[in-house]
Amino acid sequence: MNAPAFAFARRHLLGIEGLSAAEIAAVLDLADSYVGQNRQIDKKGTKLRGRTLINLFFEDSTRTRTSFELAGKRLGVDVINMSVGSSAVKKGETLIDTAMTLNAMRPDVLVVRHPDSGAANLLSQKVDGSVINAGDGKHEHPTQALVDALTIRRRLGRLNGLVVAICGDILHSRVARSNILLLNTMGARVKVIAPPTLVPGLADRLGVEVHHHMRDGLRGADIVMMLRLQTERMRGSYVPSIREYFRFYGLDREKLAVAKPDALIMHPGPMNRGVEIDTEVADDIHRSVIREQVEMGVAVRMAVLDLLSRHLPNYAADGGK
Ligand code: ASP
Repeated sequence: MNAPAFAFARRHLLGIEGLSAAEIAAVLDLADSYVGQNRQIDKKGTKLRGRTLINLFFEDSTRTRTSFELAGKRLGVDVINMSVGSSAVKKGETLIDTAMTLNAMRPDVLVVRHPDSGAANLLSQKVDGSVINAGDGKHEHPTQALVDALTIRRRLGRLNGLVVAICGDILHSRVARSNILLLNTMGARVKVIAPPTLVPGLADRLGVEVHHHMRDGLRGADIVMMLRLQTERMRGSYVPSIREYFRFYGLDREKLAVAKPDALIMHPGPMNRGVEIDTEVADDIHRSVIREQVEMGVAVRMAVLDLLSRHLPNYAADGGK
């Protein structure tokens, strides 16, 4: 499927903030059309042949980095993974210097993950190609929200009017922020559930209902999205103990019983079994769509690469720049 280019006339994807419902729908429609290609024996296409993508990850990643790599390769893109741990950054080079060095090699797309909010935005002002935010601090993780939206839409046929409960460490989660923005734009009702210590101060300004008890928050939910405790971003202690946390906020059969009988269970990964989610519900083949989220990751990232590439300068027409 060829989504109308005007529906997503952007060169960068830095966040969900600012995207219209039509833009989000354009990405999801195109991603949907890539799911089939990913299920074929021969998955290799050539639509973006000749383009180069650099994965520049300053934080660990399993799903996101691998799926950007596969997405690029399935469209014929040359993909390079920069291992920051062994790069010049370790030797004291700044983020901008690293980016400018890479920019001199003329990549078409830079996929960036960084512990600081705003890092992707900063790079987008410096480089010639497209920048995709693969997670910046606790700010945004736009492709994860698009992945989640595609998973929900394929299962339930819509986003509009659904009740989505997002539970866990809302305060430190870029996934929660991007999902809240996307779900609000698409007309879903979002409830967040967390202990008071793990909810951002102005959460109600995000247009969500805030709950501190799982039973209140999960009531009537179509979707239950679980998040891990982001201990790497915590300074000090936010929960009394893991055991206590699981007792009050860990998703198990009993707590899930107040959600809709066919409510879907989601998790962006990595999942901490026995902390925010019980193994029995995480592996419930009827309710859990956690593996499907991973599968949709490749299709969504293919769609994003495809759409952004339509707004790159035409290098050939530019004198082979
Ligand atoms: N993988 C997601 C992220 O990078 C969620 C997480 O790390 O818990 O934000």
